[in-house]
Amino acid sequence: MREATHATVHEAFEGTFECRTCGLEAPAVVVARGRGRASGWHDAAEHTAIQDAAEDAGEIASWTLAFVPCPRCGKRDRLARSYVVTSIALAIVAGLAAAIGVYMLAAMRGIRGVNSFSTAAIVGGGVVAAVVFGLKARAWIGIRRRVSINVSQAAGVPPATIVRR
Ligand SMILES: [Zn+2]
Repeated sequence: MREATHATVHEAFEGTFECRTCGLEAPAVVVARGRGRASGWHDAAEHTAIQDAAEDAGEIASWTLAFVPCPRCGKRDRLARSYVVTSIALAIVAGLAAAIGVYMLAAMRGIRGVNSFSTAAIVGGGVVAAVVFGLKARAWIGIRRRVSINVSQAAGVPPATIVRR
């Protein structure tokens, strides 16, 4: 196996919660964990791995905001649904690719018994699909613990309060 440096970061990001339905805008803090890796064990690799992890955490944090229901109108961004659909699709594609890979590898090695390597392919594909889905699911897991929206500093006029002349 190749030598690699792994890094995990746990960071708080400041952003703005924006509701497309009622127009609420409020400062928000999102906490996210990210994972990164780089080849080698030297200091530069550690630096790259940490940077990679911080980027990963930032991406998770920005998606997390789409899953938070609006504190004023309770609506959730419709991007949240497409993110879940994409995550499921990615997990299925990755799982199938892994299953085919495992099957081919077993077939090439000339392992006897079709049943044993189809089982290995199904298990391998299932594990990969679960891992891919789990990585994506970090965006919506633990939202209540990870997000705080400062409603007292909210801006944006809800349509209902517009005064008619
Ligand atoms: Zn809203």
